[in-house]
Amino acid sequence: MAGTKFAYVRNFELPDAVLPSTYMVVRIDGKGFHKFSKAHAFAKPNDPLALELMNEAARHVMAQLKGQVTMAFGESDEYSFLLRRDATLYSRRTSKITTHIVSLFTSAYVFSWSRFFPTTPLQYPPTFDGRLVVYPSTEIVRDYFKWRQADTHINNLYNTTFWALVLQGGQTESEATETLRGTFSRDKHEILWRFGINYDRLEAMFRKGTTLVWYRSVVEGSRTSTSSASAGTKADAIEGSRTSTSTTGSGTGTEADAIEETSSSTARQGVGQVDAQRETLEDEAAREGITPAHAAKRRAKAEKQRRKRLESAHDLELVTLHCDIIGDAFWSISAPAPAEVDEPQDEM
Ligand SMILES: [Mg+2]
Repeated sequence: MAGTKFAYVRNFELPDAVLPSTYMVVRIDGKGFHKFSKAHAFAKPNDPLALELMNEAARHVMAQLKGQVTMAFGESDEYSFLLRRDATLYSRRTSKITTHIVSLFTSAYVFSWSRFFPTTPLQYPPTFDGRLVVYPSTEIVRDYFKWRQADTHINNLYNTTFWALVLQGGQTESEATETLRGTFSRDKHEILWRFGINYDRLEAMFRKGTTLVWYRSVVEGSRTSTSSASAGTKADAIEGSRTSTSTTGSGTGTEADAIEETSSSTARQGVGQVDAQRETLEDEAAREGITPAHAAKRRAKAEKQRRKRLESAHDLELVTLHCDIIGDAFWSISAPAPAEVDEPQDEM
């Protein structure tokens, strides 16, 4: 219908592409989740299954947008997704990216609901909204995620104390609100202490939220531990709280060791292959009717492609962490892995 007299309406669709070479964060947020959590009898102050369902939906988003989304952080009914600085998704169009992520997340949430709540039917369709914010530097991106985790802590401390007053202390919700008015962090800790709750012993997921990141861990069948920590290293913060990764390496080394080990074993494999190639190169050249030099060149090209594939998304593993991301330790090891993929996720 491009040539019709109606085609001019297309001009009303204004471009909304994001500035190049900037980080994009899409934050999705449950709409009316206060009501939703009541309708589905979510446990107070935290429902682990409801949070795990959020995490599952977020993992779906990350898996679908592997190579574009490098990290995510979630708490309560919200999740933030960080897109690579050079992300090409939907030609960086704000509305397309935001709506796509909201849609991926929401459908995954509904799709996975019965797995997490097998005996609680959905009462009505949950919805999420989303916003996209652009950040110009890694420093500000880090501060963004630190801000969200600080928020997790403040809300969780408040909510945990509030519900202790209600559920254990017998106060009404408005009485508990009054009790907490004007209190500081140490006051809340003291109240919790009276109810026998040691805040620092509560589940890390409640206190720290959930961080999803890609790690490079598997190299041609030889799984390498992504963070086998030694005392005081940057890996410590993560090691203590990782939940769903397999660290089969017996390693006592550091992350750097693990990488070193990986690359040297790859190099050893490479040497073996070179030997094998030397034996058959002449034969192959004769069979293919090409010169040995040409055959060698083809081999080199194939090897280069193989290495490139290795470095691509295949060896990235999505890990779920409940660690501190306010300190610098996390960022020195977990700078969002630059997931490269073969198939660009462009406009569909
Ligand atoms: Mg909300």
